[in-house]
Amino acid sequence: MNMAVCKFGGTSLADGNNIKRAAEILLSDPARKYVVVSAPGKRFSEDVKVTDLLYACYQESAQTGSCGEAFAKIRKRFQSIVDELGLHFDIQPILDKTEAEIVARKSADFAASRGEYLNARIMAALLGWEFVDAKDIIFFDAKGAFDEKKSYPLIEERLKRAGHAVVPGFYGTDADGNIKTFSRGGSDISGSIVARAVNADVYENWTDVSGFLACDPRIVKNPEKIEVISFKELRELSYMGANVLHAEAIFPVRKGDIPIKIKNTFRPEDAGTLILPSKKYTPHGNIVTGIAGKKDFTVIFIEKSLMNSEIGFARRALSVLEKERINFEHMPSGIDTLSLVIESRYLEGGMLDRLIEEMKEALSPDYIRVSENIALVATVGHGMAQNIGTSARLFTALSDAGINVRMIDQGSSELNIIVGIDNADYERCVRAIYHEFFEK
Ligand code: ASP
Repeated sequence: MNMAVCKFGGTSLADGNNIKRAAEILLSDPARKYVVVSAPGKRFSEDVKVTDLLYACYQESAQTGSCGEAFAKIRKRFQSIVDELGLHFDIQPILDKTEAEIVARKSADFAASRGEYLNARIMAALLGWEFVDAKDIIFFDAKGAFDEKKSYPLIEERLKRAGHAVVPGFYGTDADGNIKTFSRGGSDISGSIVARAVNADVYENWTDVSGFLACDPRIVKNPEKIEVISFKELRELSYMGANVLHAEAIFPVRKGDIPIKIKNTFRPEDAGTLILPSKKYTPHGNIVTGIAGKKDFTVIFIEKSLMNSEIGFARRALSVLEKERINFEHMPSGIDTLSLVIESRYLEGGMLDRLIEEMKEALSPDYIRVSENIALVATVGHGMAQNIGTSARLFTALSDAGINVRMIDQGSSELNIIVGIDNADYERCVRAIYHEFFEK
């Protein structure tokens, strides 16, 4: 029989009614044996996520030595969930203990993790499944990275023993034995880790949208849904801002060749998006699968005659970034030119000028120019490598729309063409590419 690991996100578990709906989904298919839960998210647009309330508890406790005021909201939220569910589950003693621990442990990660912990306790009581604490099965190493060697066997053994289990997402235990969280939205990663550990047939990620769209619906009205996508395509799109799933959630299941299914808790009948390992993926009719992008990059353009024959040039350029601990996103190069594309937020407070000075010193370039307010737009699809003329179509569409392309980068994967344009042209650029590949 197939076996699925499910993860439900914050909106899907925001209140008692939604939690009930999630429980029904879980119980409607016997393949669904394990579930990873987020903390309750927003119930309406001005609402505050439980995780954010918990960070506020930490702040209050750090400043005043107690967190009664902020924690009152947590109490109210969880008590009303239990009441809405009509569940005979006495959560007050658990809340008392949680409040005391937040104060005693003095850790933002510990405080933040309690939303998932409490929600998982409730979900376990509702389903009659076992609660398995993530702190006992998900571990980080001394460098803060997920420790797969230690975690996978423990997760597998513990969950198989439980039969059915509810696991809180978002956190685990660090090398010193303290609670540590993943980055925000990290329950997606926890779900992926659990799916990999138990070698699930599918990782079902239940959220509040019916999967990925071919581009941002705020830019193009009703864009096409992506029904099937490969891990590689998704990696490119989610890195560039398509954010249905945490960008790092791909890795554990991808290594295990386990497909991900994105499903909508509020419209379970919708097909959603199926994310497949390359082996199991056959490119469909579309040349382009999706378009995504981000604004606010800075490009440092370096020119030097005979750069290509100067050994160590690129290394010296990158050493300057390394010294200042700055990431670069792309590095398109020509014969005598090299561009470094960096997120502008890293270059604030005089950092840009400092970098330029250090580059001049390290590289003796003929010329350095900086372009700010650049947006990047990625056009992604396996079909692009096979279809002659794809880039011609893309660039013709951009020129017809009067968009000045400032930079081009085609990754060596050949499934992605990235263009750099002015921030101001971003929306028009996405629309022009969408129109060319999806509306003609
Ligand atoms: N609750 C956490 C957050 O708000 C983690 C998650 O929901 O995935 O970021």
